[in-house]
Amino acid sequence: MSAQIIDGKAIAAKVTDKVAEGVKERKDKGLRAPGLAVILVGGDPASQIYVQSKRRTCEKVGFISKAFDLPETTTQDELLSLIDQLNEDQTIDGILVQFPLPKALDETSVIEQIKPSKDVDGFHPYNVGRLAQRIPLLRSCTPRGMITMLESIDVDLHGKHAVVVGASNIVGRPMTLELLLAGCTTTTCHRFTTDLEHHVRQADVLVVARGQANFIPGDWIKEGAIVLDVGINRLESGKITGDVEFEVAKERAAWISPVPGGVGPMTVATLIENTLLACNEYHS
Ligand code: NDP
Repeated sequence: MSAQIIDGKAIAAKVTDKVAEGVKERKDKGLRAPGLAVILVGGDPASQIYVQSKRRTCEKVGFISKAFDLPETTTQDELLSLIDQLNEDQTIDGILVQFPLPKALDETSVIEQIKPSKDVDGFHPYNVGRLAQRIPLLRSCTPRGMITMLESIDVDLHGKHAVVVGASNIVGRPMTLELLLAGCTTTTCHRFTTDLEHHVRQADVLVVARGQANFIPGDWIKEGAIVLDVGINRLESGKITGDVEFEVAKERAAWISPVPGGVGPMTVATLIENTLLACNEYHS
């Protein structure tokens, strides 16, 4: 039987509506709207598209969105001093710096400069550390978004064997921590993993964040598994596809997220959810 689809677009729309309600509640109480500062350095076309989508969603839910489009030649000091200003700005609850940054800039020190209470991307070591210690607050958007997807299908994750393919700081690693927090037994695979197929075949929950089209053959999927495909790959034809061989995988999985329309929309939805949380918890 064919898998049920985890419709990230629909789930993200629900999250966004809930945030809009939260903003309205604040305004009804006479409180200010949450504010998100979005910083883009340079003119990378993909980054421009992501940033526009984030800004549009902010406006849709009633946030104040402040845009900072900085030239490619921006120095590290200039960027850090803008972050300092925004850290002190009482109308700003979240600071988002779109990555990748131009090569001359150091992403780690940029992340560390953002006040943890305004780190709505959830990349700051303080926030990742909180997740690791089971006291999460601002959580990395893509992994947290996937947990919302798993919650929406109402399966008990306790004791499930979760396998995460990819161990990057923004997806694979924090997703392993999220699944551990959710009660799964977790395995993380990366470039040094030997016998990837063996691990993937064991997965009750499989998350793939590698960045290569059809990296996971569909016939590796365990019967009845839940599959979340994070990959975004553009084929020569222009078509966007994930990391999992979807057509074959969907005949084996119980649940599967498509690309596009799966994990992608959840990332932006979780970003605005984090911004409202930061506003209510830290800056009200
Ligand atoms: P990275 O390139 O930073 O990470 C890829 C990971 O894959 C690394 O951890 C790497 O391991 C691992 N890897 C490499 N080779 C193998 C292998 N042979 N077996 C197992 N693992 C391997 O990418 P990201 O995590 O940033 O993104 C992954 C994909 O997800 C991309 O397609 C990206 O576009 C997409 N993405 C989608 C988002 C969304 O909103 N839907 C958000 C973010 C990313 P190692 O750590 O050892 O190098």
